[in-house]
Amino acid sequence: MILPTNHNDRKDRVILVSNRLPVGVRASGDKLEFTHSSGGLATGLKSSHEQGDSLWIGYPGDLKGLTDEMRLELECKFEDMRIVPVHLTAADAARYCQGMSNGVLWPLFHYLLDRIPNHSRDWKSYVKANEHFADVVASKANESDLIWIHDYHLLLLPSLLRKRLPSARIGFFLHIPFPSSDIFQILPWREHVLTGLLGADLIGFHTFGYMHHFAISCLRTLGIEAEIDRIEYDGRTIRLGAYPMGIDAAQFEKIANDPAVIADSKRIRAAHGNAKIILGIDRLDYTKGLPRRLLAVERLLDQRPSLKSKVRFIQLAIPSREDVEEYQRIRADVEQLIGRINGIHATVDGAPIHYIYGSVTREQLVALYMAADVLAVTPLRDGMNLVAKEFVASRADGDGVLVLSEFAGAASELGEALLVNTYDVDGMAAALARALSMPESERRRRMASLRSRVCTRTVHDWANTFLDALGTSREGNAKIATLATVPIAISEITKGLGTHKSLILVLDYDGTLVPFGTSPDLAACDPSLQSLLRRLGQLPATQVHIVSGRTRDGLEAWLGQLPIALHAEHGLWSRVGPAEPWIQNAKPNADWKSRVRPLLQEYLSRVPGCVLEEKSAGFAWHYRGVEPHLGALHAREIRTELVELLAQSPVEVLAGSKVIEIRPTGVNKGIVVRAMVESAGPDALFVAIGDDRTDEDLFAVLPPGSVSFHVGAAPSRAGYRLESPQKVRTLLEQIIAIRSKQQLTVRRDRLAET
Ligand code: UDP
Repeated sequence: MILPTNHNDRKDRVILVSNRLPVGVRASGDKLEFTHSSGGLATGLKSSHEQGDSLWIGYPGDLKGLTDEMRLELECKFEDMRIVPVHLTAADAARYCQGMSNGVLWPLFHYLLDRIPNHSRDWKSYVKANEHFADVVASKANESDLIWIHDYHLLLLPSLLRKRLPSARIGFFLHIPFPSSDIFQILPWREHVLTGLLGADLIGFHTFGYMHHFAISCLRTLGIEAEIDRIEYDGRTIRLGAYPMGIDAAQFEKIANDPAVIADSKRIRAAHGNAKIILGIDRLDYTKGLPRRLLAVERLLDQRPSLKSKVRFIQLAIPSREDVEEYQRIRADVEQLIGRINGIHATVDGAPIHYIYGSVTREQLVALYMAADVLAVTPLRDGMNLVAKEFVASRADGDGVLVLSEFAGAASELGEALLVNTYDVDGMAAALARALSMPESERRRRMASLRSRVCTRTVHDWANTFLDALGTSREGNAKIATLATVPIAISEITKGLGTHKSLILVLDYDGTLVPFGTSPDLAACDPSLQSLLRRLGQLPATQVHIVSGRTRDGLEAWLGQLPIALHAEHGLWSRVGPAEPWIQNAKPNADWKSRVRPLLQEYLSRVPGCVLEEKSAGFAWHYRGVEPHLGALHAREIRTELVELLAQSPVEVLAGSKVIEIRPTGVNKGIVVRAMVESAGPDALFVAIGDDRTDEDLFAVLPPGSVSFHVGAAPSRAGYRLESPQKVRTLLEQIIAIRSKQQLTVRRDRLAET
């Protein structure tokens, strides 16, 4: 792991953006009363905000109870705290926050589809609130700032901000799970959400699993293929990363060593006699799986009645979103269940479940963690779960057992916990029984491993690692941000043609001159392209070179009669004009082909819609016609198998646009273009156009003063960008017009001279 730099050393100002601010405010009589938010996000970022010069932008809540004087005072206080409020009307805030964010996105992203209301009409308010945030952030941010947006309330903000600040460095962190693509597909606004997020330079998740789900959703919904840690979209590279959020472990350890807290924890233990304590601490949210946890406790008592007086289950339920109906219902369900279980299993000495509905102080919380024998963290889904980590950090005594849901993000880091499937009540009851009877040596061994991780990967490391990655995220995108527009390119060509005697056009074929077809034979050269290329080839002092990955036969069949040069198989073969012979530019070893063929043929028969193209010195496995998700999966599989199979062979495996190319090392478009450059000398102006990664090789060897174009949105070393083959053809028509006009002027000048 890269060691994070200290946040105090950071030169760039950080702008934190989250729905809620780290402080809450309300009127208490004629005074302002501030409350400090204790949520994970606020605690995680508070210390870096306090020590740096960052700004924190967020919604301060409904301020309608405040007098004008109080508002003025609040403004000053916020300024001192470097807080910028985003004011929303109460109605807008309710629809955006309770309606869309907590009503729809929260249950959906936690896989709890039956909690989503039948009719959700709040999307417009969600867009409006995100727009409003974008306006406020844009009014405060500078080019050099690092803008860090948080969580599911602001999924559209990255792209809305990108429109307002095209070269800003924008990071986004999702604090809840990103669901599997089958679940995400359900969202009617799925495209908007994905393209909204793709406005960022860096998108962070708690786990690799969430990051993978996001990448698969981009593929299924937008058809964009991601690399393991990056996505190319809209001319930018967006980096993806897993940054599991930690806690301020040192603070919990410090509280755990406080004599008053130790005494309090002993008091709690004594209050429950010799009974072992199972502890549950959760916001009262339906994602936390309280009913099933209670049923597991009941099952445990049913199966082992002798435990009735020997086990106490303390459940602290922290009030949450009490104004939302679903939350009122879950509270009623939980309390009814506790009443029933206690009614059946209580003895005259006490009841098995000790239930508290309310909040406790940090010190009381740590005392509870220390008093417990077992902490049961059993959410149905949870982005991370900080309670699990806080328990581990508080157990400076090295004892205690953590029972943890495998559906919490924390499970990906805390493998030494007893991991449970929270939909399996019997399995949970068995895990609780095992935790209660675990030998001390095993408890200590597991806790030591858990502590080594929780105490070293803190929330400060988390914030610093993310901000460090965001700080460097724009490097790859810098060139793209400065790409000029096509009219400038045309004036550059016009100027170049004025000073150079000849023009050499180097053109890729598929994706550049013709749009991709679902299979390579469908991307034929239509009559209008034939006419265009013929007219280009007939221009005086002009050479046209098609440099393609296609085979000689393929190029010959469609372009063979035109007055242009053809280069097949990435420049392995060249033919300078019609009726000229094909010359082989290199003699690569092709022994490896017989080893690869059976593997590719196996995929050809297994994967519906794919096409295998065999070339004289290589293969191309096309999957444009395959269902996108399946195609990308198989392409990855093939690449992995080929890399192993060809480890010792002089062969390259390239991922192109919906194609895997297997070609000899050292044969690439750059080699044939370099030869052209050398023989042309300084009098030739090169204009090159391509769309694929293989075209980057030819862009790289163009002489200074050349004009190059990349077709499409992917990052490229080309100087200019064109949207589509149609735009390429328009540009080529313009070149014909410029060239013809120049010739006319030259002829007229000559006539005038004579
Ligand atoms: N917590 C709290 N009030 C309490 C007890 C606990 O605010 O009375 C804190 C707890 O210490 C933890 C946070 O609430 O930091 C809960 O975070 P978690 O990630 O476990 O769940 P979330 O509430 O974010 O879904």
